[in-house]
Amino acid sequence: MTGNEDAPANLVVSLDRLNKWYGDHHVLRDVSLGLAHGERIVLCGPSGSGKSTLLRCVNGLERFQEGTLTVCGTTMDGKPASLTEIRRRTGMVFQHFNLFPHLSVLDNLTIGPVYARGEPEAAAIARARELLERVRLSDQAAKFPGQLSGGQRQRVAIARSLMLTPDVMLFDEPTSALDPEMIQEVLDVMEELARDGQSMIVVTHEMGFARRVADLVVFMDQGEIIEAAPPEDFFANPATDRARDFLGKIS
Ligand code: ADP
Ligand code: MG
Repeated sequence: MTGNEDAPANLVVSLDRLNKWYGDHHVLRDVSLGLAHGERIVLCGPSGSGKSTLLRCVNGLERFQEGTLTVCGTTMDGKPASLTEIRRRTGMVFQHFNLFPHLSVLDNLTIGPVYARGEPEAAAIARARELLERVRLSDQAAKFPGQLSGGQRQRVAIARSLMLTPDVMLFDEPTSALDPEMIQEVLDVMEELARDGQSMIVVTHEMGFARRVADLVVFMDQGEIIEAAPPEDFFANPATDRARDFLGKIS
């Protein structure tokens, strides 16, 4: 799965020896990774190891200087057409839910499809209601983000991202800003998505989630992928001291 042995066409996301610098700070070092359709990767590692930067490269929010990124057959060439296509294929959920505060939950979901993509409003509303049911928020459609709990807001953010039918969902520490009692309701929704076959890359320190959901756990440190293994192997028998130290600190 790592090492990019498969032809990129079979993969939702393929990274081949990606390198990125901020000035002279080398933040991604020869990162290679492949995500197949329906597969779930959990990405973990110490703060500052480059996890967010990597996700942001995958959806085109950040540029990189060297290497190849291919999403659903489109290779990023820095030109607007590939950027638009890659953005269309990827959905991103951040630590801090960036909902529009002045729009209702329902409007938060429909505004992208209706105004950015020209989807008929009635169809968008119907899909939004289905997705709100899926994230168990059917009864909150008319509320504003400020009236919801953090866990509810994050579930709205997930539904909003799903409205654009991404081929891959990218989650960047989606529960780390939440009160402990709200973490599980968000993880449950993500786990259900995974069970329904959604391809995803999840940056999280929720190792219970990783054990249950991940096909592959990828451990990064200082911009490099140090280990990539199925959760049962990674947790039982981390191959490096760095991963062992990391697991010791978070558990
Ligand atoms: P993680 O998500 O694993 O905590 P990040 O991807 O946020 O790590 O950051 C990786 C490294 O890149 C860190 O050293 C961070 O300080 C640096 N970095 C992140 N964003 C920027 C930026 N916009 N400009 C300069 N350096 C940055
Ligand atoms: Mg981060």
